[in-house]
Amino acid sequence: MAYTYDDQNIFAKILRGEIPSTPVFESEHTIAFPDISPQKQVHILVIPKGAFRCYDHFVTSASDAEQLDFFKSVALIAKQTGTSQAHGGNGYRLITNSGPDSHQEVPHFHVHLLGGEPCGPLTA
Ligand code: ADP
Repeated sequence: MAYTYDDQNIFAKILRGEIPSTPVFESEHTIAFPDISPQKQVHILVIPKGAFRCYDHFVTSASDAEQLDFFKSVALIAKQTGTSQAHGGNGYRLITNSGPDSHQEVPHFHVHLLGGEPCGPLTA
């Protein structure tokens, strides 16, 4: 499937600096900022800088360098937020919504990193 990308989505605007955000992390291909409506004590959104609509789009179209950068960044941000068990934290949950059935609201691939308190069982 060929994915289209709507460059008017809110994260594209954040990336262009048209909407303010407070990045907590930035690397060559990845940026992360707090969710505006946090669901847990720690709720960070991690996004690639490239124009990818969803997870499938990202893994099929992003370069290896972009993908490696992204997934390593998630682990670094978990370390930075104190949630990584590898660094003494209590762990974290990663969520990515992909497409209408998942309730993806912003059509720019992103991973929610949730933690800082117990998340409870996963509910659909
Ligand atoms: P859902 O709302 O079902 O979680 P998404 O997975 O697309 O859908 O998540 C979009 C997330 O973006 C939401 O958690 C929302 O609170 C967050 N959000 C929307 N606008 C902003 C913004 N300007 N800055 C930070 N986070 C935002």
